[in-house]
Amino acid sequence: MAATFYSRSRDRQSRHLAREVRNLETEWQSLARNRAEPLNLNFSRIEHLLSPASLEGKVILQIGLGSGGAPVCDHLTMNGVRSWILYDPDILQDVNLVKHPRGRRDLGRLKVDIQHEWILDRNPAATVTSRPEDVFTAPSIQEHVQKCDLILCCADTRAVRLFTNSLAIKHKKPCVTASVFRQGFGGEVYAYIPGYSGCFECMDKVANQMGLNINLAIEPTPEEQETIYGMNLPDFQASGLSLDINAIALIQARMALDVLIDGKPGYSGANWVIHYNRSIPGVESSGRLKSARPMLIRSQKECACHD
Ligand SMILES: [Zn+2]
Repeated sequence: MAATFYSRSRDRQSRHLAREVRNLETEWQSLARNRAEPLNLNFSRIEHLLSPASLEGKVILQIGLGSGGAPVCDHLTMNGVRSWILYDPDILQDVNLVKHPRGRRDLGRLKVDIQHEWILDRNPAATVTSRPEDVFTAPSIQEHVQKCDLILCCADTRAVRLFTNSLAIKHKKPCVTASVFRQGFGGEVYAYIPGYSGCFECMDKVANQMGLNINLAIEPTPEEQETIYGMNLPDFQASGLSLDINAIALIQARMALDVLIDGKPGYSGANWVIHYNRSIPGVESSGRLKSARPMLIRSQKECACHD
């Protein structure tokens, strides 16, 4: 109707009015169409880079939704991952706000609930199972590992990393583990792919043999010394900046995406990436935003992952 009116209008004012009416008609049609359709995440701007269809049905089990885990989950959700099982017993606290991407209004809430809500807001077609539980005692953890296609280990303790690794070996599931070095000097991301690469413990052994246990090369702060030795909390480490943590989270998300789509970690066959955010005094290979050459670690003979 507006189009006919537009073509017949001679003077400028009438033509302007007709254009406004025509725009409104188009907008109404679009609004009516959108309301009739289910709310889906529109992938059209990234489909030349990846196919969200290739991630259909892939289930990710994520352990840890802290300052590193939350951005990994955010990025993978935006890139098309839509089946999640989330584990984290913690709540969001005010000290997290300098590192964690979620807001002040979520303080005091469980991190799994906040992330659950975020995923469904971003992609209402997603399915999310959330467990505010410690993986060591969670009753459904074996069943969830069995069900998933990939485990993301974003925990901040070595004990959880080793336990997650043992679950991955038992159920023969790929597992991408990320850890940030003390004070955020850098971090590492490691992919265990059963039948292809060694597990997290294999990496640990090789790191010790090669002197690549970077955390040991970093001078502890007085607070770290006091907490580690004085309070006997060996896992304690002073935090890095949000920037430091996110640099490692991005590497983990990218590696996870490659494992999900291609079955390999996407570093020309390598599965272990050590990334530095800043120079570590005494560590020659370190530097600002510098990654060491990625390495491939094979399954070590004496390890539980060795067939
Ligand atoms: Zn192993």
